[in-house]
Amino acid sequence: MSIRLYSTLSRRLEELPDAPGPIRMYVCGSTVYQRIHVGNSRPFVLAMWLRRWLRSRGYEVTLVHNITDVDDKVYEEAAKLGKGSRELAEEATGWFVQDTDELGLGRPDVEPRASETIPEIVTFIEALIADGKAYASQGSVYFRVGSYADYGQLSGARLEDMVAQEPNPAKEDERDFALWKSQKAHEDAAWESPWGPGRPGWHIECSAMAEKHLGPEFEIHGGGLDLRFPHHENELAQSRSRGYPFARIWLHNGMLELGDEKMSKSLGNVVTLRNVLDTWGREVLLLYHLSGHWRKPVDFTDAALESARTQLAGFREALVMPVRAAGDWGAFEEALGDDFNTPAALALLHGWASNGARDELARGLDLFGIGTTFDVPAELEQLRVRRESARAGKDWASADAARDEIESAGWAVTDHPGGTAVWPRP
Ligand SMILES: [Zn+2]
Repeated sequence: MSIRLYSTLSRRLEELPDAPGPIRMYVCGSTVYQRIHVGNSRPFVLAMWLRRWLRSRGYEVTLVHNITDVDDKVYEEAAKLGKGSRELAEEATGWFVQDTDELGLGRPDVEPRASETIPEIVTFIEALIADGKAYASQGSVYFRVGSYADYGQLSGARLEDMVAQEPNPAKEDERDFALWKSQKAHEDAAWESPWGPGRPGWHIECSAMAEKHLGPEFEIHGGGLDLRFPHHENELAQSRSRGYPFARIWLHNGMLELGDEKMSKSLGNVVTLRNVLDTWGREVLLLYHLSGHWRKPVDFTDAALESARTQLAGFREALVMPVRAAGDWGAFEEALGDDFNTPAALALLHGWASNGARDELARGLDLFGIGTTFDVPAELEQLRVRRESARAGKDWASADAARDEIESAGWAVTDHPGGTAVWPRP
């Protein structure tokens, strides 16, 4: 069975090579200066799921997910807080790792930081200058956009329509973008370079980190749709200008939409991943992500999260019931093989939950990192047994009392023809 993914670059479904591949993936990560927004969890979750699934299909997958710890936003936020920018970047990197760890999907294979890739970035820029693709000016270095004929290929941006990305008299052409930025007065940290002290531009960080960890050519590049232009267009221009094929398939996930009117009452105005994990729990968030196709925008509302919680409860209940049927695992693989269609896979999981195909249900949920077994505390297990025997003896008063005690502990009770099961309410 072939596996197809929609690529922004070719604007069609692209087939992956046969297993074991390899599949080398670079997915743009977060800029670390505060707790990440819940929207930043989508590319992370998608990348981790894709890796889990491809590995389950026999692929050798390497996932690189960078941490942008050198950026304007880091300097700005650090200045606001009155702390050093490197100190803030270090602290916020810790928050990022902590919060994404709690999604329970594992870690990417490599999580390079821009600050640890400066020598490779400088080498990359020097090669572009040597080839006439970039030029130094007033302590900074700019990419000569006009030198790259395919500019706009990824995003559809037309060179002649482009306005300056960052207006600046140091540029030969307004459309050129910075590869290296000279240190500004308010910036408290800088790195040495052949052009003087400064720091890399955001786009070159990713081109250099992708090359360092995956080589000049790799299978998949991912990130949010908001990165398609200018970030990914510029990455592609830089790397192709060095003669690298760079990424073959470009995945752009749709954005989470938090409209003003639909603003979450449960989460307030600061919709960080941390806040969502604390308020709703990781499995509700994962089910929420499953319900939308990765390429489409999805509304992020309390109603959507509430619906995910209801679905999670239904799955947990189905997982403690006896097996009554077998599920069509091939259909599940077919759904994911067709542009990683998680809403279609989710529909199959619901079908399996309702017809008692428990084994396939557990296998499918496990793939997405959703728990399928529950540790029942000893006292709840005693209550479960008490209810089961009370019901067998038609002692309804004792059976009800046991159920009430189980429920007051936050667990639910489900009676089935084989006995009584308990499961934790999400
Ligand atoms: Zn990037």
